[in-house]
Amino acid sequence: MTRLLEDGHFFLPGPTEVRPEILAAMTRPMIPHRGEAFERLFAGIQAGLKLVFRTTRPVLVSSSSATGLMEAGVRCAPSGAILSLVNGAFSERFAHVARACGRTVEVLEVPLGETVPLEQVEAALRAKPFAAVTVVHSETSTGALTDIRAVQELARRHGAMCLIDSVTGMAATPIETEAWDLDYIFTGSQKALALPPGLAFGTASAAFLAQARSTGGRGLYFDLVEFEAFAKKDQTPNTPAISLLFATEAQLAAVTAEGIESRWARHAAMAALVRSWASEHPGYGILAAAGSRADTVTAVTVPEGTSGKEIAARVEAEGYVIAPGYGKLRERTFRIGHMGDHTVRGLTGCLAAIDRILIAR
Ligand SMILES: *Cc1c(COP(=O)(O)O)cnc(C)c1O
Repeated sequence: MTRLLEDGHFFLPGPTEVRPEILAAMTRPMIPHRGEAFERLFAGIQAGLKLVFRTTRPVLVSSSSATGLMEAGVRCAPSGAILSLVNGAFSERFAHVARACGRTVEVLEVPLGETVPLEQVEAALRAKPFAAVTVVHSETSTGALTDIRAVQELARRHGAMCLIDSVTGMAATPIETEAWDLDYIFTGSQKALALPPGLAFGTASAAFLAQARSTGGRGLYFDLVEFEAFAKKDQTPNTPAISLLFATEAQLAAVTAEGIESRWARHAAMAALVRSWASEHPGYGILAAAGSRADTVTAVTVPEGTSGKEIAARVEAEGYVIAPGYGKLRERTFRIGHMGDHTVRGLTGCLAAIDRILIAR
């Protein structure tokens, strides 16, 4: 059985390409979600997810897209104001979710491609008390990578919980949930885990869960206290997306066989390949600053008078899918999602296709 995509063609930064074997796993017949077969399935998935998250705590499984667990984190955070680090579309969404949940939100915003400087985070936390900090690990709209370990440490030192979106970090980028004592971190199925969209996975520290129990207004469907109580029994609070869980079981077996550290290394190698491609093409560059670049997605800046959106559209005629820039960066950049089960070999094919259309211009 092939465990990776040596000849991948779909390099969107989410959803990512899903291997046929994983799609096929979803055609298994239904099982009751209250019963032994399900509990075995869930327990197996737990074991795999714990390796991915590097934790011994339960990993919560939500039959929602990743934004569901973003909202869950906000709803279960201690009451009080929230500090949101904003450096792109997804970190902006996190702030927006907090406001929509009725929180007072203070935003620290930096230009697209950058990460919020730690000194700025520290100064804001020192200036007044915050209940929680929201941060996006790998900002998929720009390809910028934030040092979540440092942000978590600052938040802790100033008495705030840290809510971490690692939707395009987890399963691709070194993360030590337990060793770094992260309060709350989550991801979605359709990014570096190379599963179809529809599931979100997250884990909360014992301290986060303990305070959540006394936080009012947590709601019901996205209550992490409820998720954790059921996870401990190898169950979910409501009927989960069982077919997606079959796919998750199959994919986690492959991830476990590859080894999480090998998976991190493969992503670093793919990122290095895209960076060297950009450096070999005059006028092209990388939006994110050196030293804070994601290993899963790269926003490539294009020369003046060139359109990132047009490049993305023309690559499609070569049989490859990449993404235009996100939002305001639509023309100035194009994005390659080099995550999940993609390989250096497959990515080489994608970059060659981009070369063909650049020459044909
Ligand atoms: C894709 C993505 C999300 C949103 O995920 P949904 O599954 O669409 O809810 C959130 N944050 C980041 C960083 C993402 O890349």
